[in-house]
This record gives sequence, structure tokens and C-alpha cells, in this order.
Amino acid sequence: MNFRTIIEPFRIKSVESVKFTRREDREAALREAGYNVFRLRAEDVLIDLLTDSGTGAMSAAQWGALMQGDESYAGSRSFYRFESVVRDLTGFRHIIPTHQGRAAERILFHTILRPGLVVPNNNHFEPTRANIEVEACEARDLVIPEGRVPALVHPFKGNVDLAALERTLEADGDRIPLVMVTITNNSGGGQPVSLENLRGVRALCDRYRKPLFLDACRFAENAYFVKLREAGQSGRTPKAIAQEMFSLADGCTMSAKKDGLANIGGFLAMNDDAWAEAARNLLILTEGFPTYGGLAGYDLEAIARGLEEVVEEPYLRYRIRSTEYLGDKLTAAGVPSIRPSGGHAIYLDARALLPHVPPLQYPGIALVNALYVEAGIRGVEIGTVMFGLRPDGTESPGAMDLVRLAIPRRVYTQSHIDYVAEGVIEVARTKDRLRGYRIASAPKMLRHFTAQFEPL
Ligand SMILES: *Cc1c(COP(=O)(O)O)cnc(C)c1O
Repeated sequence: MNFRTIIEPFRIKSVESVKFTRREDREAALREAGYNVFRLRAEDVLIDLLTDSGTGAMSAAQWGALMQGDESYAGSRSFYRFESVVRDLTGFRHIIPTHQGRAAERILFHTILRPGLVVPNNNHFEPTRANIEVEACEARDLVIPEGRVPALVHPFKGNVDLAALERTLEADGDRIPLVMVTITNNSGGGQPVSLENLRGVRALCDRYRKPLFLDACRFAENAYFVKLREAGQSGRTPKAIAQEMFSLADGCTMSAKKDGLANIGGFLAMNDDAWAEAARNLLILTEGFPTYGGLAGYDLEAIARGLEEVVEEPYLRYRIRSTEYLGDKLTAAGVPSIRPSGGHAIYLDARALLPHVPPLQYPGIALVNALYVEAGIRGVEIGTVMFGLRPDGTESPGAMDLVRLAIPRRVYTQSHIDYVAEGVIEVARTKDRLRGYRIASAPKMLRHFTAQFEPL
């Protein structure tokens, strides 16, 4: 069919009511929460764009699969179904379930790192970086320079800077146990990595004899961007592209809360027998027996089905387009954001929008809180509160002050997104009224989750 309207590729079988609140209720709730939206009760939020992690809607087939869960402690049927789906997709020899993505990272890094080593990546996701630094190692970001400029449009802003990777491998090769690439690049704005770039990384890894691991949380969104944007790829299925991406790597870490279309789960997969054996031994210590890895049998069923659904083309067409639809509306209204739109989220540029709020008065928090009070929308600050605290307790501006609006998978309809656009545009129109914040209390680490603020 040649119609232009891209519709939600599903119909709704079960609904969950959202609660409408009055402006004064939201002001009171936010005050009560210490002006930190992480501390709100979710039911006081109308449209929740805090994260796309574990917040998606499962399909009727996934809910049905839950009843098929085999809860045997060892060797459950659900594990073998999960393993066969992951193997068909990735081709990796060893498939190790974990309770979420960071558990896979923790097990991988604790198994292979020792103090002083370096892990290159395009951009490390925050918990990934923390899991490397906790082993007294360095997480080095080598995204292309275009990936660091919010307004700059480039089809593959997640690409690795191959020349920088080569220099790193040349200079620090003996300290590099593996190379990682995050698809799509979450910290860089949900931006994709091209197949050509992955092939370039693979060639360098071959030359310097390093294994390549993918942080594959959004592999399906990345595959669809490749289909849309990379020369010669438009005729292939997203699944075939994803299979080629995995075939270029030696292993992956994965959060099934993203492109697993599940509410919990993850896995670690790899070809190396010795690394896999060490990983399974650690898994038993912290996650559980290798055929369940901290998950129920029914979770493994939901993930297996989710991994089949996530590469379906109608789903991905809708997914990528609905995020872009929001980005296009905001751009047309002059609201600054990372361009082009990412796969899973829109990243508003709060520093550019609120030049009268200096970074150390947290323009991201000012914008997040205004979106909540005006429209009941919850986003998240990715800026000076998240990144500005140094280990010695002093503070400096983050590289950027962004507000991420992450879109949960299959949860909101186009009218919800139209409402979000209207809310953001209204807040942007009255931006001169927004004031900054100061921190009233905060922990020494990961302060963005629990800090309390006071309006200035
Ligand atoms: C979410 C995420 C992780 C960690 O997964 P969790 O399931 O949240 O532990 C790792 N890397 C990237 C890029 C992510 O987006």
C-alpha cells in the first residue's frame, strides 16, 4: 500500500488508564519529591518518558508465552527456546542469560579485566563505564567528532572514529583486552553505527588480534537505520542486517529491556570457550544456574518471542518513524535538540533553549520540571546533575545539558506524541520564565537519582 500515514502496527487488546492531575497537584507532588522527578510516584505522571528500558508493552503472544514458562531449575525447556532464538540471531556459541544488561557487563568485565586495562567504545553507557571503572580500568570513548555536535546532521553519528581506534590500538594495544561498539549509541543520542564502520572496526580488531563485542541493547533499531540510510542495504530484511552485524563480532552484552521487548532480562553471548566458562562460574555466584541466569522461565519465553517480534519490519518502521515524528515537530517549532532524531529518544538541548540558566543552575532540571508541571510529562536530565560531580566532590558543567524524552515501545499512540509535542512547544514558548535550581541535598555518587533541589 502506498499511503503516507505510518500507523501503529498493532491494535490494542488491553489498556491501562492514565491519571489526569491538576497543575496545582503536580506542583505539590514535585515539591514533595524535592524537585527531582525520579522521586515522583509514577501514577502522578501522565506521559512517562523517563526511560525506554523495561517499560514497553508486551504482545498478546508474549503474554501467552508466559504461560509456557518451564520453571525447572536446570535445563528448562524455556532456556532452550531462548537459546535457539538468540543463536539464530547472533550466531554466538555461548548464550548466557542474565537478569538485565548490566549484569552481563559486570560478569564479562569482572571475568576479563584487571587493573590498568583500557576498553575502547564509541560511547560507554553510564553503568557500563562504571562497571569498567570499578575494575580500576579506563573506559575510552572514540565516537566520530560529528557524534559530539548536537545540531549536526550525519546519518551514522554513532560511528567509531577508526583513525582514533587505530592510534589507541597502536599505542595501548597491550592494555586492551577487547573493543566494544554500542548499537545504537545511547549516550550519544541513540545514533546508529553503519555496517561499513563495523566492518572497519572488525578489520582493525583482526589486525591487532582483539575480540570485538557489541553492546547490542538496540541492535534492531540500529539494523533498521542501516536499511534506511546505508547504500545497498534497502533491499535486505532488518533481521539479515542484524545477523551480519553480529557476525562481525565475537560476542555481545544485551539488555532485553530494550530491543528484547521484555520488562526484564538480558544476556551475555560469545564464541570464546575459556571466557564463557569463567563467565558461567561467576554467573552461578551472582545470578544463578546458567540455564536461568536470575530470570524466571517465563521471562526467557517472553524475551525469545520479543526478539522475534522486534526485527519485524512494520514494527521497526513505526518505531523509528514515531520517534522522528516527535523530533520533526519540535524542530519545526524551533526547539533545539540532537539531530537527527535517535531511535529510542529525543534529546532536547536545554543549554541552548535556556541560555539565561547557567549550567551550574541546572537548565536540564529546569526544563524537566517545567515539562512535568505544565503537561504531566516526565523526561530525564542528562547533563550537569548526571555528569558534573567530580570524584573529589567538586562540580563542573557537564559536556552538554540535555533532556531525554525516551519513548517506551508500543505504549503510546500518535495522539499521545502530539500531546507531548504540544507540551514541549508550550514550555519552550514561555522559557524566559524558567529559573534554575540549587542542590539542597545529594549523595556522593549517582546523585541524579536521589538529589533534592530548591528553585532559585
Ligand atoms: C540500558 C543499557 C545498558 C544496561 O542495561 P540494563 O538492562 O539497564 O542493565 C547497557 N548499555 C546500553 C547502551 C543501554 O542502553
